Amino acid sequence: MKIEVTGSGSAYSKSRNTSAILVEDNTQNQWLIDCGPTVPRALWQRGTDINDIQVIFFTHIHPDHCAGLPALLNQWKSFGRQRPLDIFCQKAQQPPLESLVQLATWPKTSCCFEIRWHEITDQFRWQHWQLFTANSQHEVANKALRIEVDGQSLFYSGDGRPTSATKALMQGVDLAFQECASAQTLPAESSHGDLDGCIRLLSETGAGALGLYHCFDEALAELEAGIQAHERLFLSKDGLVIDLSVIDFSNPASVKMLIDGPRSDGGMPEY
Ligand SMILES: [Zn+2]
Ligand SMILES: [Zn+2]
Repeated sequence: MKIEVTGSGSAYSKSRNTSAILVEDNTQNQWLIDCGPTVPRALWQRGTDINDIQVIFFTHIHPDHCAGLPALLNQWKSFGRQRPLDIFCQKAQQPPLESLVQLATWPKTSCCFEIRWHEITDQFRWQHWQLFTANSQHEVANKALRIEVDGQSLFYSGDGRPTSATKALMQGVDLAFQECASAQTLPAESSHGDLDGCIRLLSETGAGALGLYHCFDEALAELEAGIQAHERLFLSKDGLVIDLSVIDFSNPASVKMLIDGPRSDGGMPEY
């Protein structure tokens, strides 16, 4: 499994794209998780083909996670995408997403490719992928996601503080991404994660590596300093590429090298 960080920023970040990742399995099946307003341009900059992405999964529909959808679909429509698109979302969140799809094609009511809607359930399969979801603690219902494919596993929190259910989902995973807005400890009832919580999460779940993302711009320097003593903790960044098949998770030095990618030429990091 290969993960590319399309965006790692918080909702109103001035320096980073809104948070989203691309996930690709060993047979080039590709998912996009979340699609905030700056994600389409990030995908165009990296040269994503109009037919590359098969699935878009929405953790939740705050605008920083979905407002890029009309622009992306409009580009796919304009350049003649052929491949059907599968969209996974929570049932209650589908109507607002459908209006974003309408905006992409308006005044026409259909696209040149099929869009197939799927409700997110606690556990489901897609091709040979096994997926598990659970609710985090967030202002609106947010589905954290665990993907298991090709013998590797990935956890992506979407927004929100960890819950016992998302911790269970993260247990023993190879690579995890956890929303971490702040380096300061936030109130327990907060809608966002913090550094202390992520450090605890890493030790409680035994994740091979834990990337912090969706951080407030003003928290980045303190978070960078705060992770130094923790060898399996890293700060996610736009353009980071992580190929799980080349990382030795039993070797903390190999894990730490995740942070060095990607090279300046945009290629894979050298491990
Ligand atoms: Zn967000
Ligand atoms: Zn949110």
